[in-house]
Amino acid sequence: MAETIGEAMDAGWDISARCAWGRREGLKSVRERNWRHSIDLVTLVATRGRDFPLARLSERMRCPVCGSRRIAIAYLPKPQPRIMTMRRSTP
Ligand SMILES: [Zn+2]
Repeated sequence: MAETIGEAMDAGWDISARCAWGRREGLKSVRERNWRHSIDLVTLVATRGRDFPLARLSERMRCPVCGSRRIAIAYLPKPQPRIMTMRRSTP
């Protein structure tokens, strides 16, 4: 189990972030945008350093759509085809 972003990069992990804003609002939050995107680990390591703990990643992120700091991060030790199909292809 990797504990830093450097270890996760070496292990070939796939990390995706999702906006969790509005989840606590209950039923009213049905219309949330569900922003979700995979994170480029190499870029992260290059900017934060290998020793940056995975556990603190969510604190450092903001939703690019609504600016919320409520970001949920999914750690996928190995990319799976089912996950790949859910990705948005952005130019
Ligand atoms: Zn958001």
